[in-house]
Amino acid sequence: MRKILIVGGVAGGATVAARLRRLSEEDEIIIFEKDQYISFSNCGLPYYIGGVVKDRNDLLVETPEKMKKNYNVDVRIFSEVTSIDKKSKVVTVQKTQSGERYQENYDILILSPGAKPIRPRIPGIEGAKAVYTLRNVEDTDRIMAAIEHIKPRKAVVVGGGFIGVEMAENLTHRGIEVALAEKMPQVLKPLDYEMAQIVHQELAENGVKLYLGDGVERFEGDNIVLESDTILESELTILAMGVSPQSGIAKDAGLAVNDRGYIVTSKTYETYDVTTGEMEKDIFAIGDAIEVTNFVDGEKATIALAGPANRQGRTLADHINGLSFKADGFQGSSVAKIFSKTAASTGLNSAQLREKGLPFMEVHAQRSNHVAYMPGAAPIVLKLLFDPESKKIYGAQGVGGSGTDKRIDVIATVMRLRGTAMDLSSLELCYAPPYSGAKDPVNILGYIVENTVNSPLKYVQWYDVDKIINGGGFLLDVRTKEEYEKGHIKGSINLPLDEIRDNTDKLPQDKNAPLYITCQVGQRGYVAARILIGEGYTNLYNLSGGYGVYRMGKAKNC
Ligand code: FAD
Repeated sequence: MRKILIVGGVAGGATVAARLRRLSEEDEIIIFEKDQYISFSNCGLPYYIGGVVKDRNDLLVETPEKMKKNYNVDVRIFSEVTSIDKKSKVVTVQKTQSGERYQENYDILILSPGAKPIRPRIPGIEGAKAVYTLRNVEDTDRIMAAIEHIKPRKAVVVGGGFIGVEMAENLTHRGIEVALAEKMPQVLKPLDYEMAQIVHQELAENGVKLYLGDGVERFEGDNIVLESDTILESELTILAMGVSPQSGIAKDAGLAVNDRGYIVTSKTYETYDVTTGEMEKDIFAIGDAIEVTNFVDGEKATIALAGPANRQGRTLADHINGLSFKADGFQGSSVAKIFSKTAASTGLNSAQLREKGLPFMEVHAQRSNHVAYMPGAAPIVLKLLFDPESKKIYGAQGVGGSGTDKRIDVIATVMRLRGTAMDLSSLELCYAPPYSGAKDPVNILGYIVENTVNSPLKYVQWYDVDKIINGGGFLLDVRTKEEYEKGHIKGSINLPLDEIRDNTDKLPQDKNAPLYITCQVGQRGYVAARILIGEGYTNLYNLSGGYGVYRMGKAKNC
């Protein structure tokens, strides 16, 4: 029998405990959780605040009593592990209510302490009455009590990550006027800018006032003054400015952490002694608090998501019980709901690829989530990033109606199974009119990639177009005259697709010079390019995602 202690009783901690028990009835398993609740759904908290989830109990997945009965796990709530003595294999536990301390020895120690919201010392913050962060049930209760008590008309959310946008939506559902301030020029960092712009538009259309590229400078009473001197009236402020790993006890115990404080582990989650660099074979760490390997490029990364924390819990229990697992890293697949839109992504985005110096190609596809004549049809914009040579998929993003997450999940699966961008066209995906098209948007991405292979057709991106036109480039817009008149790229020349064959004399006659083509989403541009290839043109560029993506990239939403 082994004595296994687990620090932290939510996503990683509760999962590893349950799996350990399923694999062995022999071990003694104790979970220490410093707060009141274990195994609750953090992810559901914003929806309870918004009134979408009505019953608070629905968020509580497991209780200490159920863990005892079902898994014979000893769960000690209000119990904070304050220190680890690696040599003696003992932890010190403090009961948070009474302050009483005691020690507990272990054979195996598992750390899953998570990450806590950052609460910077913003000038004036101590004078503001209603400033909250959101991590757990206790925070949720505080926010709910404040809403009940203050009945705020106006709230400010600081930070446009997942929790920030989810809180903006859910406070809006409660009839509160919400302003969202974000220091970066966009919300949802995993998305590329033009994709995030669809989210900005959706937030704005639903009444959320966006202040992008404008950080918080100070509080004046409850109000917030931004760097631009804009004053945001606030009766309730939610700080959603990111998280930092709760790795203090690990660091104090002499376990290695990286320069941002994330616990360094092996691929099978053993920790390391910071001085000797030797592996601590009896101390493991999982969840938001650890540094992981990025599945896409094998580099170090940090990922604060529930899926990875749960998978780490399960696979660590396997490892401890002698079962092997594929330790090939994490790709950060994530999704968020923003009113009627879904924003999902997996792998690396263009900013990360540039930072890593990896050459990449990017293509966009816009299609309906299902056949347009069926009720509820809505556009989905997909983006794929891949290696121009090997066609290895680096990442994908999608923003749009229902079914967006499914498309990103499909691509995430192809990535995980080491497929390439060329494989997307041959995926045989489910089709019936209420669900998709006979050519799924994911297949379309594959076709777009295939179309560039051994072809004089290349892609140009929305952010390069103005520069090209200003430099004298020729941009042909092949949409109808009506579409062109509603909005077009300045300097483009309109020649509708069905008139091209009879009017090639209106095009530049140097067939080897670059010729740029656009339409609404890229499809007609491709057909036009094929006609021009037939006419002998050799240097064609289709605008990726067409005017639709260009307009998103250039739109002003705040
Ligand atoms: P946690 O689940 O945070 O658990 C750590 C626990 O350890 C905490 O309860 C903490 O109190 C306890 N602890 C820390 N130190 C000690 C100590 N010394 N002694 C005893 N106990 C200690 N992820 C998604 O993938 N999708 C989502 O939609 C999503 N939504 C989210 C919404 C919100 C509001 C929040 C806060 C998070 C969300 N996440 C989401 C992230 C997800 O919840 C985390 O990635 C996941 O919970 C991490 O698991 P963990 O075990 O590492 O840490």
